[in-house]
Amino acid sequence: MEQKGKIGVTTDNIFPIIKKFLYSDHEIFLRELVSNAVDATQKLKTYSSLGEFKGELGDITVRVSIDKEKGTLTISDKGIGMNAEEIEKYINQIAFSSANEFLDKYKNDANSIIGHFGLGFYSSFMVSQKVEIVTKSFREDSQAVKWSCDGSPEYTLENVEKAERGTDIILYIDDENKNFLEEGEISRLLKKYCHFLPIPVAFGKKTEWKDGKSVETEEDNIINDTNPIWTRKPADLKDEDYKKFYQDLYPMSDEPMFWIHLNVDYPFKLTGILYFPQIKSNVDLNKNKIQLYSNQVFVTDSVEGIVPEFLTLMHGVIDSPDIPLNVSRSYLQSDQNVKKISNHITKKVADRLEEIFKNDRTQFEAKWDSLKVFIEYGMLTDEKFYDRAQKFCLLKNTDGKAFTFEEYKTLISADQTDKEGNLIYLYASNKDEQYTYINNATEKGYDVILFDGQLDVHMAGLLEQKFEKSRFVRVDSDTADNLIAKEDAVEVNLTDKQKEELSETFTSQLPKIEKTEFTIDYKALGEKAQPIQITQNEFMRRMREMSAMQTGMSFYGEMPNNYNLVLNTEHPLIKKVMADVEGKEKDAVTAYAAESKTVRQLIDLALLSNGMLKGEALNNFIKRSTDMI
Ligand code: ADP
Ligand code: MG
Repeated sequence: MEQKGKIGVTTDNIFPIIKKFLYSDHEIFLRELVSNAVDATQKLKTYSSLGEFKGELGDITVRVSIDKEKGTLTISDKGIGMNAEEIEKYINQIAFSSANEFLDKYKNDANSIIGHFGLGFYSSFMVSQKVEIVTKSFREDSQAVKWSCDGSPEYTLENVEKAERGTDIILYIDDENKNFLEEGEISRLLKKYCHFLPIPVAFGKKTEWKDGKSVETEEDNIINDTNPIWTRKPADLKDEDYKKFYQDLYPMSDEPMFWIHLNVDYPFKLTGILYFPQIKSNVDLNKNKIQLYSNQVFVTDSVEGIVPEFLTLMHGVIDSPDIPLNVSRSYLQSDQNVKKISNHITKKVADRLEEIFKNDRTQFEAKWDSLKVFIEYGMLTDEKFYDRAQKFCLLKNTDGKAFTFEEYKTLISADQTDKEGNLIYLYASNKDEQYTYINNATEKGYDVILFDGQLDVHMAGLLEQKFEKSRFVRVDSDTADNLIAKEDAVEVNLTDKQKEELSETFTSQLPKIEKTEFTIDYKALGEKAQPIQITQNEFMRRMREMSAMQTGMSFYGEMPNNYNLVLNTEHPLIKKVMADVEGKEKDAVTAYAAESKTVRQLIDLALLSNGMLKGEALNNFIKRSTDMI
């Protein structure tokens, strides 16, 4: 028999479309063909277990091989094969996909069938000038056939001799795609797409070192793990198994902190393992990605839209036949199934974190610094996650002690409520730079939260919205006495003339610092408090910080950094300066200030404790201080 015919598609010639536009990534043809082979083998196993196939399964390894001389890449399986009629139905009628029919018929047994990828088989034409199918059905007395097509809509079909059941797909690789005849390239692709397929896939033979060179052995080089741990029962797995799998996925990475084994049957199917990596720096954040599988076939590692955004920081594997695969991202984002899956994953992650928090708080606290970025990111971007995480999100203070929101509120309620009944949460963003301020606050009996993470400024904003009658105030935004306004501040008894004299004295001696302005402020803080302090208004500072992170708010970023230079009018040194300049004209005040070591020293000390004394000014200060000793 020899038959010629036209492939049943509506457009006259679908091949140019396949070649150019169908798949942006040519390499996925290999995924499609190997998964078809695995699919056909799984079907045969199903028939066998149902008694519809009575023969021996035998060696069912799928084999991939390259023939450089002929320029061919072949994928062979010992699956169900096809007869002429089936070729007509499944290959020639492109729109018809037998996976549907099979699933319908074997609904309850076929759940391991690789989901269908649309025009899977035809993706072979992306890289081939000609494709042949040599196939023999598993049914008794089947006639083997060869289908051949050179990339035009015409094909030929003829009877051939074939000893064993199954299918060989032979690709005559075209000139532009010669790289797919390289062993290294095929190896890489098999590792990428077929690493966890459920039927063994062999590519060549294992090699070993003999007499100083690598020689082939008899043993097949199986490239996949047919039984990856996410398909196994959590009860059968040990910590070591999870850690080892992590190492397989991401060689050279640090051990993960925790993991979650996902296993859902209803209302959608989803399995997988998600890992919380240790995060040591920003660079680590996007290094490894979650891999998405469909029945053990690798699909993609860009999971945006499927996994909630904050969880893209996690690592691991998600496997679901219910995620539509070859569709656009925007479609994914609006797909109801995908939404459900995404919500479910969020819930599972929250469950797991809560469980660890409850069962092993010590461990949870120890790992908090690495966990924090996930949790805060999640709370900031996902309302539902916030609701869950508020139970285990921690606030760490400058002594390194960790508290839940509830615990922290209890801790500070008594001392940190201002006269209007607002609870004031004090925080520092840098323990060293704000040391003096932290110290001043803790000496007053206040507690200070350490907010030095990337998302902490945003967190402060969020918590202010969530907590009732609460404000977050950075320790250096006012003098310790005024951070939490307890009673009306003591009036400053200065005449306008006195204020002018003081202001002139100090502003005339302030070193010039780029993009920085100072406003002189007068406060009666008592003899014991520092003579001068530098503070920065909380609102202004936050605006600047936000604008540094966002575009479109450059207005605040352009403005100079404004600080308050707070003079304590009750401090003996300030009093002395006031007495010295009393009644003097402007020029005389400036001349006095320039000569006064006290004035210069006081300014420098204030700058120093705020980390603002640098360069020449710092050098002058050191010299002056040495002289004074
Ligand atoms: P899908 O896999 O989604 O059905 P494909 O285009 O990949 O779409 O394959 C079309 C059909 O061709 C398959 O459903 C199957 O019936 C048949 N087929 C493809 N490859 C093989 C194979 N190796 N063995 C048996 N049948 C195959
Ligand atoms: Mg397919």
